[in-house]
Amino acid sequence: MPLEIVTIPCLSDNYAFLAHDPASGETALIDAPETDPILSELDARGWRLTHVLLTHHHWDHVDGLAGIVARHPAKVIGAAADAHRLPHLDMQVAEGDRFEIGGEPVEVFDVSGHTVGHVAYYMPQSHAVFTADSLMALGCGRLFEGNAAQMWASLCKLAALPDDTLVCSGHEYTQSNARFALTVDPDNPDLRGRAAEIDAARAAGRPTVPSSLGLEKATNPFLRADNPAIQAHLGMAGADPAQVFSEIRGRKDRF
Ligand code: ZN
Ligand code: FE
Repeated sequence: MPLEIVTIPCLSDNYAFLAHDPASGETALIDAPETDPILSELDARGWRLTHVLLTHHHWDHVDGLAGIVARHPAKVIGAAADAHRLPHLDMQVAEGDRFEIGGEPVEVFDVSGHTVGHVAYYMPQSHAVFTADSLMALGCGRLFEGNAAQMWASLCKLAALPDDTLVCSGHEYTQSNARFALTVDPDNPDLRGRAAEIDAARAAGRPTVPSSLGLEKATNPFLRADNPAIQAHLGMAGADPAQVFSEIRGRKDRF
């Protein structure tokens, strides 16, 4: 049975997620940007946390953890590669590892690029992947530690998942991402339609996260570095997609 997934807005533009198994009562928190909104959501639903899954070491993904585990003594899971700079981990994971939440398998992907050691958590039975600051809605994380080739390889791994996968990413950056995306892929009708929907959602105060992988593949320029129209628009027809990705990432940094 798929897990119930809840999106929790935190800080000014972060998202945390709960994944809850109604049968066993097991509940995982994915990232801990802020204590209070997460405790409130758990209280409102009467859920007890059993697991916390950390994606990467940045403060806006971990700073709420101490206050949360003080109330919910859950098992904290994160990347072995980042154990030295994450809060205390009860379980260290790496690419290819599997564990279970309420009987549902969780697969670990190394998605380095934004940071080296950033992981994503894929729940195939729930059709959901928790990507934080790797693949984002219409965007991807800035390259603070890794390089463009690493991030492109990470995005290709995520793009290989089924189109109906829910992409649960870490920030509400989608509206500005859409404005940028239209500068590199201006004639893409799916992107134009999505940009209009995003404007409407934000005007109504609705989150644009999560999104679906199929929609990201159709509209997110960072997943479309191999797209002929984008390559032509950038004057890079036939170029290596990793190089095209690097050009798009550089343009976004300057946007
Ligand atoms: Zn980050
Ligand atoms: Fe972040």
